[in-house]
Amino acid sequence: MAMKPTHVPVMVQAVIDYLIAGNGGVYLDCTVGLGGHAAEMLKATSPDGRLIGIDTDDQALALAKENLSSYKGRVSLIHGNFSDLSQILDQQSVSEIDGILMDLGVSSLQLDTPERGFSFRRPGPLDMRMDQTAGQPVSHDLNRKRADELAEIIRDFGEERWARRIAAGIVKARKKSPIRTTEQLAEIVERSVPRSSRRIHPATRTFQSLRIYKNRELTNLKNGLEQAVSALKPGGRLCVISFHSLEDRIVKHTFRALERGCVCPPRAPVCMCGRKPELKVLTKRPIIPQEEEIRANPRCRSAKLRAAAKL
Ligand code: SAH
Repeated sequence: MAMKPTHVPVMVQAVIDYLIAGNGGVYLDCTVGLGGHAAEMLKATSPDGRLIGIDTDDQALALAKENLSSYKGRVSLIHGNFSDLSQILDQQSVSEIDGILMDLGVSSLQLDTPERGFSFRRPGPLDMRMDQTAGQPVSHDLNRKRADELAEIIRDFGEERWARRIAAGIVKARKKSPIRTTEQLAEIVERSVPRSSRRIHPATRTFQSLRIYKNRELTNLKNGLEQAVSALKPGGRLCVISFHSLEDRIVKHTFRALERGCVCPPRAPVCMCGRKPELKVLTKRPIIPQEEEIRANPRCRSAKLRAAAKL
């Protein structure tokens, strides 16, 4: 029998400490995944705290349902994208939320399932969709986009200095035969990148970039953060865990802007924008996992947690 997929939740204690005010309340997990953080949130708010869990991945939701079955009456699981958060919450008739968690990126379920195509270490179709009920696998884009479009994606979302070479490699390879698998792409990248400049696996950044592109991760994050802040009740908490610098930058800047409120140029004599501060940032610097946690779960090594309270 195949082993049941798992995902180890990251920085659980810090998340609970920042997020949960006490018993009861309504909490939202925007990226419920396999329900690891959600289970801890439910424990910390027993006996009657309510949890709404959203994920765009049906496979994850099915596992979350199983993993959270002992909290049945207190949990609602919803298939959706947190970039539609306001709408989702309207449909659930909830508005005043006590705490919201976003644990960004991919789950181990997604990474470790070869058929999902997220990992260059697992032979499989190049899919990379978190939501497999919509759109086309990323191979569709790889086989159609112009070299300059591909280079832009790989550069902007992968911070890859060899983006143009890799894009040229992709275009050349697909003339012979369409690119369909993770192995094909990993091989193309390896061939396109000079040997000397390798610290991580040469395909790491390219795979990251395509995943971010395919799932519109940065746009979703910007949209989701704003809606999350407006859904919180005064004093409510927002915790965001990011896994690379592009994400963390968005979280940091959004938090800062909402803490400042006014967006007028610094030299403007009086405020013209009329925006008021909405958040207090609780983490001056991001919280990162302890060495012990990294040893036990190397995938958490790049995680950064930022927390804020709604004013
Ligand atoms: N905290 C979870 C793991 C989350 S992994 C746990 O402890 O089990 C990140 C999850 O976020 C993945 O399942 C992914 O499908 C989901 N996700 C990523 N972007 C999303 C988005 N924009 N909307 C909804 N879910 C998203």
